[in-house]
Amino acid sequence: MDGYAIGLVCDKCQKDYDIRQAVNTCPSCGGLLETVYDLPRLKKEIVFSKLQTTGNTMWRYKDFFPYIEEKNIVSLGEGCTPLVKSIYLSRELGMENIYFKNDTMMPTGSFKDRGFSLAISFAKDIGVKKGFTYSSGNAGASFSAYSSRGGFHALVLVEYLASDTKKAMIKLYGAQTAILDFENFGQISVMLEKAVSQLGLYQFVNFINPIRHEAMKTYAYEIFDQLGGLVPDYMFHPVGTGGGLWGAWKGYNELKALGLTDQLPKMVAVQPETSCHLKKAFQKGARVAGQYGDPAKTIAQSIAADSPIQGGTRVLDAIYQSGGMALGVSDQEILTAMRILGKEGIGAEPSSAAAVAALIQGVKNGTVSPDATAVCVITGTALKQSRAVEMAAGQPQLQVDADIGSLAKIIDSLHI
Ligand SMILES: *Cc1c(COP(=O)(O)O)cnc(C)c1O
Ligand SMILES: [Zn+2]
Repeated sequence: MDGYAIGLVCDKCQKDYDIRQAVNTCPSCGGLLETVYDLPRLKKEIVFSKLQTTGNTMWRYKDFFPYIEEKNIVSLGEGCTPLVKSIYLSRELGMENIYFKNDTMMPTGSFKDRGFSLAISFAKDIGVKKGFTYSSGNAGASFSAYSSRGGFHALVLVEYLASDTKKAMIKLYGAQTAILDFENFGQISVMLEKAVSQLGLYQFVNFINPIRHEAMKTYAYEIFDQLGGLVPDYMFHPVGTGGGLWGAWKGYNELKALGLTDQLPKMVAVQPETSCHLKKAFQKGARVAGQYGDPAKTIAQSIAADSPIQGGTRVLDAIYQSGGMALGVSDQEILTAMRILGKEGIGAEPSSAAAVAALIQGVKNGTVSPDATAVCVITGTALKQSRAVEMAAGQPQLQVDADIGSLAKIIDSLHI
């Protein structure tokens, strides 16, 4: 058998399926499917340190993905993004080891490219030719770009709340695009379930598509490599569906299963305070999250959802198992974090800055020790949400006339 992925197994009823079957949720009970690997064989045959020198995209770790024939791989150079050590936030918090995993540098400007590069490639490999996703903006842009590159027929349903730039980017990359109107996320969930059961449509929404989040494991491998074979104490991850957080958690667990480390990070899920259903569940010690809040009430569009996919059980499991937590942040905290990231050299959209806002909150209220090592995942670029940039930074106030005297006066007043 090619590759190390040996099947899909249902979270709920434990039924297993052929890895190459074009399924979304469990055909038998509707539960979420998870890709299973032959880790003992992987451990025997893979020399992890060799992977670090083979190529500079996430595909260097393709042995940790379901098998895909080389000719079907759709890649735009995603992954292997910089891990930037903080200067200013470190100083402010008295915390030496803060890192930013800078996924703003991805081909379409967000970490979604990891997932769609893999999911589109896999779909091609198993012979699926068309599909759809719904998106708060970045997923749609990424899906659109990779679909067009791969000659795949894609439909993107983009939330009406998305910024105009995001909506336009999705169109620019070539996919058929429609604006999705809804009153709450429960309606979307029902539609997605019916799309599988009644229309048999293959879809790419996180978790409902069992392959996409496998790519998010590469966060763990890359960060492990970039820290010189160390696992951070904390991973701060902005959470929408939780595919990113869950994938990273799975990746760290694989590193442990391969005997490369005995450490696991505490996983911290970050949401807007105005729709933090995971935080509400976490505070009660619940294993299932319900509906809470209003997704229209925050600038953090990419992580604004009033209810989770299938109760958010996967994300909550990762939080509890890792000893992590779920936090909520306000728009004011997010804007402050955007300004700090800016000074660090990273232009982040509000949802990404939310991870940094949560770290600041955690350190200031004493739940995160300044001795810990923390990685904040910076999931998307500021450029697609220009109004938020203006809110965070404002427009320049100084005026200067085009003469040397005016210039000299301003230079004299320069300070860092
Ligand atoms: C999609 C998105 C998230 C949330 O990711 P999930 O995997 O759905 O939890 C966070 N930040 C940005 C910028 C995103 O586009
Ligand atoms: Zn099942």
